Amino acid sequence: MVWHRPQTAVRVAATLGLWLVVGTFTTGAQAKEVRPVVIAVDPGHGGRDPGAIGRYGTREKGITLAIGKDLAALINARKAMHVVLTRTGDYYVGLRQRVTIARRAGACLFVSIHADAGKPSWNWATVYTQKSHGATGQASDRLADDITRHLRLIERTDRDRQANFVVLRYSRIPAVLVEVGYVTNVLQARQLLEKTNQRKIAGAIYRGIRNYLGRTRLAARR
Ligand SMILES: [Zn+2]
Repeated sequence: MVWHRPQTAVRVAATLGLWLVVGTFTTGAQAKEVRPVVIAVDPGHGGRDPGAIGRYGTREKGITLAIGKDLAALINARKAMHVVLTRTGDYYVGLRQRVTIARRAGACLFVSIHADAGKPSWNWATVYTQKSHGATGQASDRLADDITRHLRLIERTDRDRQANFVVLRYSRIPAVLVEVGYVTNVLQARQLLEKTNQRKIAGAIYRGIRNYLGRTRLAARR
């Protein structure tokens, strides 16, 4: 459980995250001296854990890695942003380990990508946050809302604030989990395997992240 930890630790982490964001967007000569905002991208499952296996033998672990890498490429194309992937290939990484990788890299946001099993009729995306209070919880909600808004431009997207995922529970930084679709739906399984569609999804998540970072910067200026 996370809640026994002192709230101050959460506040310090949130402040640090905000400082990095503010610093990174500073323009002019100063910008070169400031570290880029580090964003953790977490492709779900991997290795001996295939995740959900859906229609056409679709394996979740492959889809999450492909979209995660597309998202990473978009983030790394920006000088002010840098990505840390919790896995870069088809191997197993424990859930707590994923959070540790993000923390050690100095990540200020954690974005987990999944494409789990649902009812055969589920043909949408869902953006999850954990039900929580405090600055980090609010930041997670804002990030999730921004990602949701951009995903809705390309597919139906639900928003869930009651998630109980280990990677969200243990993150001390704003964290969201995106079910980009459900491999158990015939249409979605096919779409999730298409490169064009994977890029589209990664692009929407990326724009959501940028939107969030931009709004955080504006709020810090007031
Ligand atoms: Zn999953």
